[in-house]
Amino acid sequence: MRYIKGIDRHQSILLPDTVDQYVDENNPVRFIEVFVNGLDLKTLGFTKAITKETGRKPYNPSDMLKLYIYGYLNKIRSSRDLEKATYRNIEVIWLMRKLRPDFKTIADFRKDNSKALKGVFRQFTLFCKSMDLFGCELIAIDGSKFSAVNHNGRNYTKAKLNKILKAINKEIDDYLHQLERQDKKESDIQQPNEVQLQQKIDDLKQRLMKFQQLQQQIDASGDSQISLTDSDSRMMKTNKGNDVSYNVEIATDDKHKLIADFDVTNAINDRNQFSNMAIKAKDVLDVPSLEATGDAGFHNETEVAICEQNQITCYIPKPKVKSTEGKDQLYSKADFSYDSDADCYICPANKKLNYSRQTNWKKRKIQKIYLCADCKNCPLRPKCMGDKRGNRTIHRGINEHLIEEMEQRVKENPYYVEKRKELVEHPFGTIKHWMDQGYFLTRGFDKVTGEMSLTMLCYNIKRVLNIFDVKELINMLKRWSIDHSFLFQLIYLCSKLLNLIKIKQINNSKSLTNFFFDKSAPFFTQSGSRGMAC
Ligand code: SF4
Repeated sequence: MRYIKGIDRHQSILLPDTVDQYVDENNPVRFIEVFVNGLDLKTLGFTKAITKETGRKPYNPSDMLKLYIYGYLNKIRSSRDLEKATYRNIEVIWLMRKLRPDFKTIADFRKDNSKALKGVFRQFTLFCKSMDLFGCELIAIDGSKFSAVNHNGRNYTKAKLNKILKAINKEIDDYLHQLERQDKKESDIQQPNEVQLQQKIDDLKQRLMKFQQLQQQIDASGDSQISLTDSDSRMMKTNKGNDVSYNVEIATDDKHKLIADFDVTNAINDRNQFSNMAIKAKDVLDVPSLEATGDAGFHNETEVAICEQNQITCYIPKPKVKSTEGKDQLYSKADFSYDSDADCYICPANKKLNYSRQTNWKKRKIQKIYLCADCKNCPLRPKCMGDKRGNRTIHRGINEHLIEEMEQRVKENPYYVEKRKELVEHPFGTIKHWMDQGYFLTRGFDKVTGEMSLTMLCYNIKRVLNIFDVKELINMLKRWSIDHSFLFQLIYLCSKLLNLIKIKQINNSKSLTNFFFDKSAPFFTQSGSRGMAC
């Protein structure tokens, strides 16, 4: 038969002389190598970045970081799979120079360096910014749910617990009744049945106690639910129904769809997340003002007001209201027009609703109340108030004018809202489907943030590798590392000096002049060089 044949396994072949010859010039692992080598891991706070004089030598955090970046770029996230890759993947062998840490060491690195990993993401963002890859004019913000390491069955809401407790109590009652009935008909009863029933009642009481404790924990936390495996995760609505997840928010820049910043939260929806993300992105991009767009889920008067205070112009469309066509509906707020000059509303009967008083709804939202003085004999009253007594009122948020201005902006510039989809849904689609990273492998805020830092870093690396070839990027990176390293060290030293001055002022035990030259101060290691203890 005519087929393409493989080689004879026993035939001697001439392999390349060095491992380096297996990795071509444009292989992304070469970029990973240069990028990580250019980072100041001590300053970023990586564990084992400073080695001890004695004891067993640790793996260099630089090598471990390279392994993780390679893994996240290539859908290899689990520590066991990464360990296997160090044995059989030629790119990893090249990157790790044949180092083969075991899976526990690999897992511990991610667990112990979650905060430092966010710093690495930030460093790459700064590099991209210095290469003018961020437009710094328009960002799009969105949130998406990422599954947590917590089975849905191990999450309890108040309602779910009440239901369970009710069912257990009912079951106990049923068994007690059965027991009572059997006591009355003693002659017909066999002893084991009674013992079995009592055993069932005892078991149920144990379960009851367990769930009552959970209920007490929820009440004490002031939250509405509790997750038993990953206590920071929450039950959230997702596209596939309810799932215990984290809500990851991102801010994507308009120019190359690069992620400027991200945040991992356990907020069950996006309503209060817009200003937080927009301000973070503005700080990272270091611009005096910014335009930000998001979907209707972010429509929130308070959030828009905070953005305005921070020179961020928002473009968020109004949420769609369910159609009430054909239904016997009363006049809604939309049927009343606001007169900003006179600060009053005009009703469908052309009467004024003047400002009456102010209210603070649940201590969260201050609202002004406008009251009509003459509803008693109005012919439109049945359509306006139904069976209600008194006069019609309209509530208006103290920052509602900002929402009205924003709605006008959105109307005049539909481009921003259309652009949003293209900008911010693309990264989530790529991360979840192409990179297969729609779920976490670790637990707790710190660790999942570290994990997400790697995901976001690799997403940005992927995008940048689409713009430049590896060789070009490496040259840019080398130039940036030299300039940036000096600046970074300078900023680091200044911040540490300021901290020490503050500590010094609090302690006030030595003079400031003595302090700078005191070798026992935490700023100096024994040899007089900079140490992480500070
Ligand atoms: S009931 Fe009052 S508020 Fe409503 S239309 Fe009549 S006058 Fe205006």
